[in-house]
Amino acid sequence: MAILVTGGAGYIGSHTVLYLNQQGEEVIVLDNLQKGHIDAVQNAKFYQGELKNESLLDEIFTSNQINSVIHFAANSLVGESVEKPLEYYENNVIGSYHLIKKMVEHNVKNIVFSSTAATYGNPVKVPIQENDPTVPTNPYGDTKLAIEKMLKWADGAYGLKSVCLRYFNAAGADPEGKIGEDHTPESHLIPIVLQAALGQRENVAIFGDDYPTEDGTCIRDYIHVLDLAAAHYLALKKLHETEESGVYNLGNGTGFSVKQVIDTCRKVTGKDIAAIMATRRAGDPAVLIASSEKAQTELGWIPKYPTLEEIVSHAWNWHKHHPNGYQK
Ligand code: UDP
Repeated sequence: MAILVTGGAGYIGSHTVLYLNQQGEEVIVLDNLQKGHIDAVQNAKFYQGELKNESLLDEIFTSNQINSVIHFAANSLVGESVEKPLEYYENNVIGSYHLIKKMVEHNVKNIVFSSTAATYGNPVKVPIQENDPTVPTNPYGDTKLAIEKMLKWADGAYGLKSVCLRYFNAAGADPEGKIGEDHTPESHLIPIVLQAALGQRENVAIFGDDYPTEDGTCIRDYIHVLDLAAAHYLALKKLHETEESGVYNLGNGTGFSVKQVIDTCRKVTGKDIAAIMATRRAGDPAVLIASSEKAQTELGWIPKYPTLEEIVSHAWNWHKHHPNGYQK
């Protein structure tokens, strides 16, 4: 039996495909390649297309023996989602609706869904637990929460079992350097700092140093992308074993400030990375740290690369050898 991975050419999706391959699983990828990279997909049958293309989904489900889906395909830029909310509802919510509908029709009963810490909005406390209030502060988080709810009701009505994984800050790369992170435009802190280390940017702009944190900069919980990948596999295994739906946070439970991340990048790369102060970025909560106790207890998930040094070293290894990402 095979696993269908939607968005398997993207950053987290492609690392999950790699991890599933390493576990000996047969993988099928559906990706529209709007943001993903075909070179990131290795050892998988590949379909290029949209989730809303129901006849393509029919073809995928009828011509392959698929018993589970891991669903990444989505637009995922917070700022862009504020500017183009309808695009986000169409691609994320309506796209997922078509996928779920076709899963029900083809009797595929298990789905692991790529959700986000953005479903919480401004947390009421840290570390954040799964039963804390979910009040997203942007359309991106809201679309992910809407999909979680669609999955919950689909379980009740059709017995479709789901695990929703709320990621904190995904970072790092395949330790062997085969694949890594390549976004255009890049908005994430660690790749931006490493681009500065490579001389591709003059400096790093720190978005605000007047937050109520020790050094005034925002604190985030960085989690290695391959640890995220492993959690998807454990979630699938749990679904098959217990047939119970669930929601889990995925983070390290430790927070690092923007300044600490830049310092770690300086240490790992050995480069003087210039940083300048800039104004706050809209919608940034001061501190986001996950409690992943539930994932650890119920999924048996233990991050293999929990330190920021390891995360940055693997990212640096990728960026150093692929300064232009997947572009040859
Ligand atoms: N950040 C920054 N400069 C940048 C990019 C990001 O200061 O050029 C900050 C951002 O404001 C946030 C943290 O770094 O506090 C992590 O941002 P990222 O976009 O990587 O992830 P997010 O927390 O938004 O998911």
